[in-house]
Amino acid sequence: MTLTRALKCVLPAMSIVALSLCNVAKAEQTEYDYVVVGAGAAGLSAAYTLHQSNEDYTVLEKTNRTGGIAENGRKGSFHYAKGTEYLGEPHGALRNIVNELDIPMVEIPMPMDASYFDGKMHIGDDKIARLTAEKAGKQNFQHFLLMLKQAINGAPKEDWKKLDNITAKQWLNDNGISPFIQRRYNVMSRGLFGANLSDISALSLIPEAAFDYVGVTSYDDIFQPSNNSDSWTTVQGIASITDAIALELGDHIKYNSAVIEITRLGSKYKVIFNSNGKKSFIIANKVILATPSPVSEWIAKQVLTTRQKQLLSQIEYAQYITVALFSNTPIFNKAFDLAILDGDVVTDLYDATWVERHYKPTLKNVKEYIASAYLAPKGVSDKSLMTYSDDQIMSIIKTELSTIVPGIDTKITGFDIKRFMHAYPVMSPGSYGRLEELKNSFKGIYLAGDYMEYPTFEAAISSGADAAKKAMKHTVPK
Ligand SMILES: Cc1cc2nc3c(=O)[nH]c(=O)nc-3n(C[C@H](O)[C@H](O)[C@H](O)COP(=O)(O)OP(=O)(O)OC[C@H]3O[C@@H](n4cnc5c(N)ncnc54)[C@H](O)[C@@H]3O)c2cc1C
Repeated sequence: MTLTRALKCVLPAMSIVALSLCNVAKAEQTEYDYVVVGAGAAGLSAAYTLHQSNEDYTVLEKTNRTGGIAENGRKGSFHYAKGTEYLGEPHGALRNIVNELDIPMVEIPMPMDASYFDGKMHIGDDKIARLTAEKAGKQNFQHFLLMLKQAINGAPKEDWKKLDNITAKQWLNDNGISPFIQRRYNVMSRGLFGANLSDISALSLIPEAAFDYVGVTSYDDIFQPSNNSDSWTTVQGIASITDAIALELGDHIKYNSAVIEITRLGSKYKVIFNSNGKKSFIIANKVILATPSPVSEWIAKQVLTTRQKQLLSQIEYAQYITVALFSNTPIFNKAFDLAILDGDVVTDLYDATWVERHYKPTLKNVKEYIASAYLAPKGVSDKSLMTYSDDQIMSIIKTELSTIVPGIDTKITGFDIKRFMHAYPVMSPGSYGRLEELKNSFKGIYLAGDYMEYPTFEAAISSGADAAKKAMKHTVPK
């Protein structure tokens, strides 16, 4: 119980009447200072920030679980990620949460990455770098690395603006970057963002591409095998982080509560939601909306300005599918993530047991295997993924992986398909400029979610903490 809620109950405790009123109020509290809508990474982070400040809040979550896109499955001895797989080393709001809740993070063991191209597997960053130098030419590759370094380290603000306003494809073309490098990063972009290089801004590509070369100080470095992946998770997967936050928030979270509408009630908000088939409402002074932007735009249409709705409507989402493939013999177990550079729909194949097998000695030799196939659209405008049946999805996987994994058809003993309608917000040209305007336009109602920063877990966490801090700072007439 927060301090504010505790005080409301303790102060009138002089009389039995007041005490019983308090108990009623606790059971059926319908008014809060803050309502957070959505318990994905962003909503949990917003709620956690309020919780740490002893604010009076509740969280309404549509489903019966927290974590949103961060979701774990379990099969036999292993956990597997259905969505979020790994992070860079935690910073900012995420680092605070990890430290405060004592969440044990582990580094992903090497080799982290592999690439399949033209009938051959290239395992490890050094081998992928050799392939790139061979196909693109040494000079071109070196030039690309220099461009990334300059953009990350030293670009003046006007350059950031320019990089926000052009597509990644245009940036690479203007700088004469080879078709092979473009193909490699197009697969990366589809795999990581569900969007191609013509969909995203140069500014959106640069941090992810530069992440491949963390710690690299000279061109020759990239051809040396590295001992560190600089990529982190927990032994059982990223959903352990959202589980830990949810545990801390306890009964502040109301599950199976789908918000359908938000209206004004004087200076307050009426948050209307469906809970187990029943329509209910909560009154709030401030609302933090941590749902995908089309959902936020729809449920808050009565309380957002025309301009806010216009800005939100420009955010497009990519679709995505992940499929866990279960087997008794390995499907892929040579690295954590295999990028398929000449694939069509399947961009990546993960060994979903890689981390757990490494860190839990008792699981090392267990003959249960899970490989996760990631299916990406061709680009953000390709909306075909959600039309595929389970049979069609499995047929695509078996066809596309048949040369990489001989006998895949007979190896698969079961599968788990996860479809994401709102998988990734696409950071298209101009998006950072638009988001700045959006971020500065809220009072009383605040937006959080990966789409407000960047399509990653850490950015979603950061956006939630920012929204809560902004909300706590603003004084809204009561
Ligand atoms: C397949 C996949 C793999 C990914 N892998 C990685 C990775 O390895 N590393 C990384 O950093 N990022 C990864 N990402 C991105 C990252 O997972 C997301 O950026 C982040 O989890 C988004 O969090 P969020 O809180 O903004 O949104 P969400 O997780 O979508 O949370 C929104 C929440 O709102 C709830 N909700 C929706 N509508 C309502 C309503 N009407 N009322 C109440 N609640 C509602 C939902 O149920 C959900 O819980 C991946 C994304 C995908 C799709």
